[in-house]
Amino acid sequence: MPKVIIIGAGLVGTSMAVALQKQGFEVSVYDKIEVSAEVSKGKRYLEFGETGGSLGIQANGMLVLDRLELLDKVLEQPHTLLEGMTFLNADGSDPVFRSTISNNLPDRFKKDVHLMRSHLQNVIMRKCGESGVRMFINMKLESFSQTDSEVTVKFSDGTTVTGDYLVGADGIHSNVRRILFPEHPKAEYFCGGYLGVFQHGKKVGDATLQLKYPLSIYMNGLTGSAVFAARVGDSLGAWNVLLAKSHDGDASANAANDDWRPAANLPQEAARLADLVKEWQSPPNLVDAVLHADRITPINVYDLPNLPKWHKGRVLLAGDSAHGMLPSFGHGLGQGLEDVSVLADLFAELGGVYADHRKVFELYDKIRIPRAHSVANTSRNASSTTFTNSKLREKVMRTMMKFAFWLSNVLKLNDVVGAHDVRLDVKKALAAENIIIAK
Ligand SMILES: Cc1cc2nc3c(=O)[nH]c(=O)nc-3n(C[C@H](O)[C@H](O)[C@H](O)COP(=O)(O)OP(=O)(O)OC[C@H]3O[C@@H](n4cnc5c(N)ncnc54)[C@H](O)[C@@H]3O)c2cc1C
Repeated sequence: MPKVIIIGAGLVGTSMAVALQKQGFEVSVYDKIEVSAEVSKGKRYLEFGETGGSLGIQANGMLVLDRLELLDKVLEQPHTLLEGMTFLNADGSDPVFRSTISNNLPDRFKKDVHLMRSHLQNVIMRKCGESGVRMFINMKLESFSQTDSEVTVKFSDGTTVTGDYLVGADGIHSNVRRILFPEHPKAEYFCGGYLGVFQHGKKVGDATLQLKYPLSIYMNGLTGSAVFAARVGDSLGAWNVLLAKSHDGDASANAANDDWRPAANLPQEAARLADLVKEWQSPPNLVDAVLHADRITPINVYDLPNLPKWHKGRVLLAGDSAHGMLPSFGHGLGQGLEDVSVLADLFAELGGVYADHRKVFELYDKIRIPRAHSVANTSRNASSTTFTNSKLREKVMRTMMKFAFWLSNVLKLNDVVGAHDVRLDVKKALAAENIIIAK
């Protein structure tokens, strides 16, 4: 069977592995994660991807998870089903609701699912195991080379593997992308931040850790800082504190944050961040959620300039390595899941594992690049139009934002991205090539 090498065992690499193994490929996934360091800390069971906070998936991503037979398991995890998001001033005043309901889809897909990143990762990893995907850790891609018939990857420990195709799902700082398209600019640093998780409903002294809204963002238009807060099921909560550049300096200099390792000194970090969000006039319940976090992970946020081509020869990019985008619109993973669906469908429709990869990869670029760029541009606009340094302009922008949300709610504009079934894009592209799909 043709062999696929996937670099990166993040949410996209592992979903891609499930999808391609299902098509009949022999799939191996390699990740640089160093487990020995975790085991030496005395851990007997390692929850892969146990850092990080929560994330939301809209119908476009849920449809893909469903086709990979993952959605039922995802919905068994602690989760919240969301109808939208509430936008507030930093002090909790002036709430504005933006609907993210997906219309014209079966009930199962109408509301976004919001869950812990680590729980989602575990569900997909388990499926990889059940499907026969081979998983390798402590394997950092250093370089690769390709001929007309194969790709060879070299890892930093000196070992090499050869396969028919290489998928770079190695995240926003992708080495595969750097080698494939050395002329393309690096991902740009946007801001630093922190992810926190806490026990929703927990009593701490006189206070109860509780969020007022299922999903909300408290925005400080004048400093550019913001706090996202989300309930995850009945007893979990998560927050993202995003800093303006001026708060932390240029955190891109601190590449250690790119590994999403939880802060070692939790009480100290929690107290420092709680003081910070208090300074922003955040409501007391939000300050408490920060102060009593069970885990805090520093992060950096980047934006990858639009990449005009996602493949060369037998090597192809997917997920953040192809289109890492700002999290302001909450669609990065959804776009990665669309990549997975499109690549698997194209192989299926064009002859299975022995399909002409040149046609498959050409159509993959044609279908996916314009849509992912449009979502990345929307994320950029959402970030750049939210912050200003003038009080008057902040007021004007907030009024415009309210109008835009009202219009979006009335015209159901969210459907364009959130309720999109990417399988229709494949059908359309194949029809344009006069290729008729049997089903
Ligand atoms: C704060 C925040 C909130 C977000 N919220 C949402 C949300 O609500 N909804 C949503 O859809 N998206 C969200 N996103 C975006 C989403 O998290 C990403 O788009 C998605 O996780 C990308 O997955 P990936 O598998 O492509 O990359 P990654 O998760 O970055 O995985 C890449 C993997 O590659 C491995 N790797 C890297 N280099 C090498 C190498 N040289 N050799 C071997 N392995 C390597 C890494 O160890 C890692 O495991 C958010 C992002 C951020 C930052």
